[in-house]
Parts: sequence; C-alpha cells; structure tokens
Amino acid sequence: MSTTVDASADLIRLEEEYGAHNYHPLDVVVEKARGVWVWDVEGNKYLDFLAAYSAVNQGHCHPKIVAALKEQADRVTLTSRAFRNDQLGPLCAELCQLTGYKRFLPMNSGAEAVETAIKAARKWAHTIKGIPEDRGEILVFEGNFHGRTTTIVGFSSDEQYRKGFGPFTPGFKLLPYGDFKAVENAVTPETIAILIEPIQGEGGILIPPMGFLRRVRELATANRVLLAVDEIQSGLGRTGKLFCFEHERIRPDIVIVGKALGGGCMPISGILADDEVMDVFHPGDHGSTFGGNPLACAVARSAIKVLLEENLVENSARLGEYFLGRLQTLKSKYIKEIRGKGLWIGVELTADAGGARRFCEALQKQGLLCKETHVNIIRFAPPLVITRQEIDWAMERIAKVLA
Ligand SMILES: *Cc1c(COP(=O)(O)O)cnc(C)c1O
Repeated sequence: MSTTVDASADLIRLEEEYGAHNYHPLDVVVEKARGVWVWDVEGNKYLDFLAAYSAVNQGHCHPKIVAALKEQADRVTLTSRAFRNDQLGPLCAELCQLTGYKRFLPMNSGAEAVETAIKAARKWAHTIKGIPEDRGEILVFEGNFHGRTTTIVGFSSDEQYRKGFGPFTPGFKLLPYGDFKAVENAVTPETIAILIEPIQGEGGILIPPMGFLRRVRELATANRVLLAVDEIQSGLGRTGKLFCFEHERIRPDIVIVGKALGGGCMPISGILADDEVMDVFHPGDHGSTFGGNPLACAVARSAIKVLLEENLVENSARLGEYFLGRLQTLKSKYIKEIRGKGLWIGVELTADAGGARRFCEALQKQGLLCKETHVNIIRFAPPLVITRQEIDWAMERIAKVLA
C-alpha cells in the first residue's frame, strides 16, 4: 500500500468543500483506467465491478474507441443540428441495420432519451390514436429508474427521488412490477404506452417472472398501446443478449438506449422506433444542441463495432453464467438471494447483515470496486471485456468478504 494517502484526502476534501453533495461515492479517487482495471491517485489497482452503471461495457479507454474519439476530435466535434455532419447518418444507419428498427433519434443523457420516448408516445397517442391532448396515461412500474428529470422522478416510487421536487407532471400510473394482472386491469382506451425496464437494475436487479414481458407485449398490441422498453442499462450486451427484451423474443415499439452506446467516452443516448412513431416528430418539435454531435456519433459507431467485433454479448452470456454459478456455491450467512442475467448480478443480503455498504467498503480494501443498490443489495456488473481469470480473481475476494 502507499504512503501518500494525502493525495486522495486532499482531492476528496476539495470535492466535499466545493462540489454539490448529491452523491455518496466510495472514497477511491480514480486517476487512470484501462479495460476492467482502474488505478487511484496512490497507484492502488482495482477491478471495476460497476462499469459506470454499464456505461463502460466495452472496458475503460478501449484503444479503438479512444482512437475514434481522438480522430474525430481533430476534425469536427459539434455542428448542432442546424447543419448536418458526416457521422450522424452512418450511425443511424448502422444502428438500424443492427437492431431492425427504421429510425434513430439521438440525444445525450439517458433521462433525455426517456423524455424523448415519452414525448414520442404522447404525440403518437394525440395525433394518431386519437386520445385528446389533455388526457392519456403512461403505465410505469414500482421500483422503476428512468432518470432524474422532474417529469421522470415524478413517477418514481422512491420517496427520496421525489421529495421536495414537486409539483410533478401528471399522466403516469404506477403498477406493481412483474404483475401481469395489474397491467391488464390498468389498460383503458386512454392508455398511451407502457414504459418498462426489462430487468430493474437500480431497483436491485429485479427480474420479472418469465413470460411477463411477452404477455405485456401481447396486451399492448391488442389494445394499441405502445411498448417502450428502457434498455439504457440492460442493453448492449449486459444481460447476454444485445437487448434484454430478446430473452422473451419480443419487439418493443420504442427502444431507449444510452450508457454503453458512448463506449464509456461520450454521453450519447436515443430512441429507436419505426416510422409510425418516429414520424410524429417534425422539424422544430424536439431537439438538443449536442444531440447527434459528430464526436459522440463517431464514438458510438466505434463502441458498437467493438461490441460486435469482440463478441462482448456472447462473453457476457458465457461468463455471466459462470460467475453466477460460482457465486451460488458461496456459503455465507449474509446472503439471502443471488439473481442475475449475463454479467448483471445482484447479491441480496439478509436484513441483519448490516447493509451492503460495509461489504462494498470491504471489497474496496480487497481491490474490487462495487456499489450497493438500495440498502441490502450488492450489484456486480463488470465491463463485458472481463476474462474468466479476472472473475476467479474477484471470486476469491468476494468469498473472503462474505465469509
Ligand atoms: C442510467 C439510467 C437512466 C438515466 O440515464 P442518465 O444518463 O443518467 O440520464 C435511465 N434508465 C435506466 C434504466 C438507467 O439505468
């Protein structure tokens, strides 16, 4: 270990003194990262088991993505959508070719993409389905996480996300997650859309019963309701498929992407949809100054290419199964349940384990960076470039800390 602990302490002090206190990070100050590894300012090395909430699926500073970033940075970085650029068209085409959707609308943050999906669904309902402008409802689910804008936190079931931020946007109805009967009962002629995460990540890696999403799809189709699936965290390989909804062989009307689309380098998000939905947007209806900027588009093109060339989706499926299997052999009085799909695994601790935070802090001391979700769940979500040996390395430490 190091003798210059002050470097971290000073930087933490600056952040605490001059930064807003809207996060409670682990006290590791990262200075450098490569692949699945990060180094702090004292030179300690850690395995990153959070991957920036899946925004770093391709691994930190992937050489090809960084090269694309640098090359584009030297040419042109921003045009705004007032002019065209030579990266947006190719990105849209490549994404559509990969996913089978007809159009892509780029934004920056995940929350903006969710807002875009909400606007698209509402405008579709008001202009095509015939629901009056001041009416209509979008069905959402308890435990959801779709971002932090005022509209989005307005339909969160987490008190802390809402408290003090009202008044909120009307037009949303909360339903229990995974309960098909509740969805069936909630659909009315004024239902616009169903907005759902295929697995609730922030909710604690909650996996709905098999067949739930498929039945929701059928219900939506039968009632001419749009199905909008938030794949911002679950998508782009995390669960061992390109998109998590593929596990149920369904096709949503709107797919919301973000996080790993930027290869851990640039914020870029957006929605995928076919013409009937996307054509509700006319020039001036919606936009973003940085949305579709050539720098982010060039990075996203490279991020997708890396995902495919390096078979990261398959790696996630294969090593996820291996990792889950090894975790399930752990004997620990602290573990209540282990669940996951692909390289997205939640270890739920018992109520008397003393909270997940202390285990995350203990794992940090062992060289493994994880983040608790809620009070009792440790989430494991390494970059998808991880190897079997690195999982074994992590398993030794996890076993020790949970023993
Ligand atoms: C992270 C996330 C968002 C919000 O993305 P931001 O880029 O933080 O705005 C929305 N939905 C899901 C499922 C997410 O994981």
